[in-house]
Amino acid sequence: MKIEANKVVSIDYTLKDDNGNIVDTSQGGEPLVYLHGANNIIPGLESELDGKSIGEKISVRVPPEQAYGVRDESKQQSVPRNMFGDEEIKVGDQYHAAGPDGRHITVTVVGVTGDGVTVDANHPLAGYHLNFDVKVVDVRDATQEELHHGHAHGPDGHHHH
Ligand code: ZN
Repeated sequence: MKIEANKVVSIDYTLKDDNGNIVDTSQGGEPLVYLHGANNIIPGLESELDGKSIGEKISVRVPPEQAYGVRDESKQQSVPRNMFGDEEIKVGDQYHAAGPDGRHITVTVVGVTGDGVTVDANHPLAGYHLNFDVKVVDVRDATQEELHHGHAHGPDGHHHH
């Protein structure tokens, strides 16, 4: 069975940046399970998996435009230190915040001065080329429920919401 729209696909993957550092991997855990053709994964990887079969391996370098987007410097801003209360703050810390449109966003601390904290609302992988090594572990037809929900469910029918 080949990967196409409305198939549920399981993949083992390792994601590296351009310096060879592992950013994310399914090694040592469960494969990633997703519904193909439903924008569950980044477009640049989904398109490369199209037409592949169980057991096939691919290596793909995805540009930012096909991954988490390019960096938007206007998403970096300074906020008063006292917004964080007495909490200790260091570069690399991440906080959840409500974005301008009310949606949940994650901001990363990129600088701390005496009374100011610089936060960055870009996705941590924005602007990066992503290097994926992927092996197709399973391909199956999606259930009606999965198609209706627009995402894959686990082997026991559980939701991964
Ligand atoms: Zn669901």
